[in-house]
Amino acid sequence: MRMEHLKCDVLCVGGGIGGLMAGIRAAELGAKVIVAEKGNVIHSGKSGGGCDHFLCYIPDVHGPDMNAYIEQMMTTQQAHNFQGLGMKRVRAHIAKTFDIIRLWDDWGIPTKQNGKYYFAGHAYPGGLRCLLKYEGRRQKPVLTDQARKRKVNIVNRVMIFDLLTRNGSVAGAVGIDTRTDKIIAFEAGSVILGTGGVTRLYPALTPGWLNNNATRPTLTGDGRLMAYRAGAELQDVEMRVLHVGPRYFARFGQATWVGVFRDPEGRPIGPFVTKPERLYGDITPEANKAIFRDYSKAGRGPVYMDGRGMTQEDYEDIMHWFPHEGLTPMLDHMKEEGIDHRKHPIEFMTYDQGCQGRVVTNEKGEASLKGLYAIGDELANGVSNASVFGWLCGESAVDHVKNAGVPGVTGMKEEVEERASLVHELSSRKEGADWTEVNVALQQIMHDYAGARRTEALLSAGAFHLARLKKKAYEIMRAGNRHELIRCLEVLNLIYLGEIVFQGALDRKETRGTHVRLDYPLTDSRMNGMIHVARRVNGKPITEWRAINK
Ligand SMILES: Cc1cc2nc3c(=O)[nH]c(=O)nc-3n(C[C@H](O)[C@H](O)[C@H](O)COP(=O)(O)OP(=O)(O)OC[C@H]3O[C@@H](n4cnc5c(N)ncnc54)[C@H](O)[C@@H]3O)c2cc1C
Repeated sequence: MRMEHLKCDVLCVGGGIGGLMAGIRAAELGAKVIVAEKGNVIHSGKSGGGCDHFLCYIPDVHGPDMNAYIEQMMTTQQAHNFQGLGMKRVRAHIAKTFDIIRLWDDWGIPTKQNGKYYFAGHAYPGGLRCLLKYEGRRQKPVLTDQARKRKVNIVNRVMIFDLLTRNGSVAGAVGIDTRTDKIIAFEAGSVILGTGGVTRLYPALTPGWLNNNATRPTLTGDGRLMAYRAGAELQDVEMRVLHVGPRYFARFGQATWVGVFRDPEGRPIGPFVTKPERLYGDITPEANKAIFRDYSKAGRGPVYMDGRGMTQEDYEDIMHWFPHEGLTPMLDHMKEEGIDHRKHPIEFMTYDQGCQGRVVTNEKGEASLKGLYAIGDELANGVSNASVFGWLCGESAVDHVKNAGVPGVTGMKEEVEERASLVHELSSRKEGADWTEVNVALQQIMHDYAGARRTEALLSAGAFHLARLKKKAYEIMRAGNRHELIRCLEVLNLIYLGEIVFQGALDRKETRGTHVRLDYPLTDSRMNGMIHVARRVNGKPITEWRAINK
């Protein structure tokens, strides 16, 4: 296997919205920047197909009081995104949103409709509309172009799989070329993790098809796992993440639907709207994302998104926005099958997205390991969060390098070779289990033992089975080619993440949100305002409660 060595001031791991924005800003400030991306930045990541709403505060639209905006915004689903991150961070985010929107507009991502800012979706009728509609279909090519203009070195088709550290600071990372027989050692003064969210930990909505996920199947929590292994802290990993969308057709894009969620008798399931209303949508599932699953289990489902009665203007609006939100394949399917949202109610379901598990950071995006930053879905969902903190972390990362320099990595060759030995082992086995077998076994364990209902006995049994699976995976998993090798490394990351979920779920002796402990049905209010932190001390995992960094 060949080894290549690249050096930079700032390494952005992942070229999604967050990674590209971080790279753009750091390069603008004079840093030598590399963006290392598992796929191709032009279309990779959750946002690769487009997005159409951006959490944004505009004083001329919302009034001069940003705190009033934040207070109302926190009554919507956005609150869920920000839980456990601290109000200092929320304020830093919201204060920067309009600047980013103006930048994006200048760069060629349209943010106005007929010359005006237009806010719609994810809102209570009559309440604050905090999401700006924007035409984000081409956002990735536009951001890629901006990064290239600033001489960011974009290294596509490289999966970063471990961090390098020196004396308590991050010093670089190790990546593997996804197409050729090459390992790349990156030496860097600051590393910004922007590898997105987590899929493939829990079964997809059609379990036979591992890749039928609402987001990209290659988003496997790599960043947070690297951070954890290198000694950084994670928080609230055991909390499950749910989403909703058309049954069996896994897509995000809930905000663009216009209609009313109704039961089979045609009754609205929520109290918010009784007819299609495009400015607000039907916010019912945001109050409880499990509502579709709960309805079916209680014998009251299925539930339908019913667009009948919408105006022609509503319909044209939806058809305009769907493709911007990456929903073109769904539109193609509807066309092919003769499904017309104006006439045919569309069945919806609850999706099990995976686990939360954020890298613990302060309001500047700094993790607990010096020189390490985390952005975007490593912390909270949403394109606004990814772009704003990408930008701010680009600045913080450059400051760090200015003060601390690039550590320089002596003995790097041996470290990289040690990591490469796992790659070699997986690739050289002549027989064994392929990654799909291990991934399916993992999903089964997560679903059966750390799923919607949890108890001490179930969690302990699940942790035991997972430990057996981990041992076996290291002993017998094999990669027949490059594609399988990358999937194997992802599955190993997911197994580690599963372990932290079990550990956190066992230690969280309460019921809160998506974490339902049948043996501890009460919410322990002493934990309000606290985060549940997981980290490794001397190679051993520990968990602890800590007050949120307000
Ligand atoms: C269909 C759809 C519509 C959406 N619409 C909206 C919307 O309208 N508004 C909104 O706010 N949000 C929306 N979202 C969510 C939004 O896209 C994400 O929150 C946002 O893209 C997160 O940005 P990110 O940079 O953190 O992650 P991503 O954009 O997912 O990027 C992560 C990148 O890291 C790369 N990567 C992963 N692992 C590695 C590794 N080991 N080494 C190197 N690279 C790696 C990935 O390939 C990817 O390119 C939508 C999501 C979907 C799926």
